[in-house]
Amino acid sequence: MSEIVEPPKKKYISPSQLGTFENCGEAYRRRYIEKEIIPPGVAALRGGSVHKGAEMNFLQKIESKIDLPRKDIIDKAAAEFDGRMKLEGLFLDPEAAARGKDIVVGEEKDITVRLAGLFADEVAPVYQPITVEEKIRIELPDSPRDILGILDMTAQIIVDPARGTGVVDYKTGKKTKPQSDFDKSSQISLYDLAYRAKNGGKAPDFLQVEQLIDLKKGPKRVTNVTTRSLPDFKATVARVNSMIEGLEKGAFMPTAPGSWNCSARWCGYFSTCRFVNSERKAAAEAQE
Ligand code: SF4
Repeated sequence: MSEIVEPPKKKYISPSQLGTFENCGEAYRRRYIEKEIIPPGVAALRGGSVHKGAEMNFLQKIESKIDLPRKDIIDKAAAEFDGRMKLEGLFLDPEAAARGKDIVVGEEKDITVRLAGLFADEVAPVYQPITVEEKIRIELPDSPRDILGILDMTAQIIVDPARGTGVVDYKTGKKTKPQSDFDKSSQISLYDLAYRAKNGGKAPDFLQVEQLIDLKKGPKRVTNVTTRSLPDFKATVARVNSMIEGLEKGAFMPTAPGSWNCSARWCGYFSTCRFVNSERKAAAEAQE
């Protein structure tokens, strides 16, 4: 009897991989080709933990149509914060390391709890989720790779169901991001395309981002509504094609030396990066 051999799964790129590649090809190479995985920084740890609390709430709300108690959402986010830090460690930039790990971890956990509370108070009651953390593959028949998008959520707005079903993404931070960040985001363009791929070409009725921001005067929610049209998709597809071509050829352009992200604060590869000026590297190390 002949054995059935499954064809190998086609490789893919994800919106977050495109984001890393856009920021720095070298950082992408080290993360995804060399598999040098740096522990999450405080921002990623905080954001992922609040996300987990939101995910737990909305997953059960698909059926129950009721939000979980505020305390349960906060507890889930706090437990995720502790668990991930234990499992994956924590990357501290030189400034944070100088302040002391325990102090920074304590502050960030407090922020996680505040933002999970803000989510429970102001974001959770707004939406009736349809899907949560759904993986959608956008097939690119003539390309060596597909795109795999994971949508935070597709949902309806409870007080305004006439707005239809849209895609909702969450962001956490300490500063309010401007509207233009979301209007230009390749990742959001890919979420829109993923939604269309799943729904026979139909566009989402809305695309919006819920920002949960920990300001000095207290936590604040900002909702950014954005849209996409054909020129956005053309630009994003050109970027995806350029990235796939780069991956196939093994071409990984480092970011420009003056870029905001090319620093000990923002890049975990900075201290070992061959594309960084050694004098600058020494100066950064002296600050540690
Ligand atoms: S240090 Fe700069 S060039 Fe090197 S990986 Fe990081 S961002 Fe890229």
